[in-house]
Amino acid sequence: MVLEGLGKSLRDVISHISGSSVVDEDLIREVSKELQRALLQADVNVQLVLEITNKIQERALNEKPPAGKSSKDHVTRIIYEELVALLKNGVPFEYKPQTIMMVGLYGQGKTTTAGKLALHLTKKGFSVGLIGADVYRPGALDQLQQLGAKINVEVYGEPGNPKAAEIVKNGKAKFADKKIVIIDTSGRHALEDELIQELKDIAEVSNPDERILVLDSQVGQQAGPQADAFHKAVGVTGVILTKMDGTAKGGGALSAVAKTKARIIFIGTGEHIRELEPFNADSFISRLLGMGDLSSLMRIAKEELEDEEKALQEMMSGALMGRFTLSDMYVQMAAVNKMGPLQKVMSMIPGLGNMQDKIDYEESQRRLSKFRVIMDSMTKEEKDDPNLIKGKRIERIAKGAGVGTYDVKGLLKQYNQSKKMMSSFGKDRKMRKQLMKQLGGMDLDEFEDMQ
Ligand code: GDP
Ligand code: MG
Repeated sequence: MVLEGLGKSLRDVISHISGSSVVDEDLIREVSKELQRALLQADVNVQLVLEITNKIQERALNEKPPAGKSSKDHVTRIIYEELVALLKNGVPFEYKPQTIMMVGLYGQGKTTTAGKLALHLTKKGFSVGLIGADVYRPGALDQLQQLGAKINVEVYGEPGNPKAAEIVKNGKAKFADKKIVIIDTSGRHALEDELIQELKDIAEVSNPDERILVLDSQVGQQAGPQADAFHKAVGVTGVILTKMDGTAKGGGALSAVAKTKARIIFIGTGEHIRELEPFNADSFISRLLGMGDLSSLMRIAKEELEDEEKALQEMMSGALMGRFTLSDMYVQMAAVNKMGPLQKVMSMIPGLGNMQDKIDYEESQRRLSKFRVIMDSMTKEEKDDPNLIKGKRIERIAKGAGVGTYDVKGLLKQYNQSKKMMSSFGKDRKMRKQLMKQLGGMDLDEFEDMQ
């Protein structure tokens, strides 16, 4: 989880409050000290830390809890509100047809984030085109093209052409039918005049709706001055903080950027192309405080499952009619596995956060790949009716897949268990109805008429 250290110390503060017998001045002062320590450790600016803890102290001492609320809840609420206020900036990112220009220094994550954003917006249903306008760094276009290929998004570039603005102009014309165009630009080690001119030229020909500054969160409190400088140069409309996964001190960048009134719209939380999260101060703080955040949870679960949903639905309606093959089981397992970053989802559920260690996702991924290989050595007949697979067949399949016979038996065992589970769903009318409803499948009566 992002800012795990800060999250843990904040949750300790909250449990200190809920575990104490009375909320009095002493407790509030203690809690305030603990908060200071937690925020300073996450690299939040000292001045800011004092401001925020003074405010919390003052409110906690003077405000009466609203009717029906305990003073413990009230103090917790104040902490939550003040932390949110620290990070709340501007309107959320708008999902609409638009041109987006990425800017930032070397190595901040512009190209990677352009790819992540392209995938995120594709999943929202937009057609997206990527323009590679980094004419400075060798290999920049290659990097973008590889990302594009991975997520099935078209990339426009002109290898050898040193004029970034020209490339962008041609790219925009090429992508006239795309709803969203994302422009990846060059960086430098520092904000130089040459770069500023290049970015201004690109902005002039493409008229971007968003000029997004990509900032590595490891820069800590330096994020504020950098955001300011870029804003003066090219008019930044939003910030994406990257590498929030790799730093215990992400609080520095977050708060420094927020302080400049720059609007943080996404955060990058890993190297993987899916690891981009819309930034929302309320849910971010809820999660840090361990209050859980159902809306992000639902969003992630939905996105993760969207691709699999249809296959899963078909599989389920088949299974409820008594048809459950090995291929069906594979679809089912792959769908569950697709929840890959389920660890993230779980970290949003209060109380479940620490369960994540107990589930080994890499292990389940390995198992799934092994099953795939084994199934590839089976005939269609065998996959449809795994009961055929006995004795010699097991040996043949194991040999073909380059695994042991116990691996094949393991797969069959898992199959039989899943089948049993599926058929018990099938027998339980109430369960069936609920399941179909959840999967958005057809109505049960309609379904029974078909049989
Ligand atoms: P650019 O020079 O600004 O275009 O930066 P790149 O997109 O090439 O990224 C520089 C490095 O940072 C690459 O190795 C990326 O994999 C890595 N990176 C980018 N975003 C993230 C992130 O959110 N988390 C982590 N861990 N690495 C990231
Ligand atoms: Mg780049």
